[in-house]
Formats: sequence, C-alpha cells, structure tokens
Amino acid sequence: MSGNTGKPRTVRQLLTPSLFVKSIYDVPPDWLKARGITSIITDLDNTLVPWRDYTVAEELADWFDSLHRRGYKTLILSNARPAPTIVELSRKLNTKLIVGAKKPVSCFFRRALELLGSKPHETCVIGDQLFTDVLGGNLVGCHTVLVERIGHKEFVGTKIMRLLERLVRKRIGTT
Ligand SMILES: [Mg+2]
Repeated sequence: MSGNTGKPRTVRQLLTPSLFVKSIYDVPPDWLKARGITSIITDLDNTLVPWRDYTVAEELADWFDSLHRRGYKTLILSNARPAPTIVELSRKLNTKLIVGAKKPVSCFFRRALELLGSKPHETCVIGDQLFTDVLGGNLVGCHTVLVERIGHKEFVGTKIMRLLERLVRKRIGTT
C-alpha cells in the first residue's frame, strides 16, 4: 500500500494503489470516510464511461449525485483531447473538469487540487491505469484507487502500456 503518511519513495510504492476495486461503484463510502477524504479526482475514459462514449448513464449520474449530497467535491481529470461532448458530460454530472491533461505529470494533478481547493491527503484519485492515474496521484501524495477498465477499446498507445502494466500488476498483486 502506498499510504499517505509521507511521500511514497520507491517505484513499487508509486505504482501501488491504496485500493483496488472492480469499478467506481465498489469504492466503499466507509473507506473514503475513514481516511478523511473530501475530494475525488476521477479519470474519464474506461473509468467512468467506455472509451470515447460520453453518454451519461443513470447509474453514473446517481453516483456523482450521491457523492455531492455527502459533501464530496469532484473533478474529472482526463488526458483526452477537449471536446464539447466531454464538457456536456461534466455539466450533466455537475463536476469540475480538466481535459487535455498529460497524466502522470504532476502539474495537472496540482492544478486539479487547486481547482478543488483540496490538499493531497484529503483527495482520492480514481482511475483504470497504473502509469497515468495511480502513478500521477501517488506522486503528489493523494490516495489512489485502481479500477478495472470498463471496456476493451482504447487508444493504441494505451494498449502498449497495458502490456507493461500487466507485468507490474502481477508483481504488486492487483490482477
Ligand atoms: Mg482511463
């Protein structure tokens, strides 16, 4: 576990999520509460929706609603190119949005924290990729949750990274 009592130091720690669950709907409310988490940064493609399918399912809208009702601040942080359909999705979900990011580069996570007005230790990053979401979140000291990707369609570069990811996940035990 990467923990958040200090900056993670080893590569292994940086690539280890604080929690691994099947989907966003499986993140236990008690787990968030116990860690004093008040803000959630989520990835978009294959975490919230299938790759490049920006329609809002009712279950997804309900998940964001429930977070907001419980006082959580939310933000979608995506490496996807800006598109009106993504802006529309974030509007429907009533959440903040940063697109065109370059995760795992730290400045994009810091910008997200700034927009949320949150500190890393009270923020959880949720995503389906080790080398962008988990690594990036851990580098700035956030809690990190790895989820299984929703679909199998993805960017060709991502597919290549998956091969490496599979090797690392075997070592870390999140397979
Ligand atoms: Mg993703």
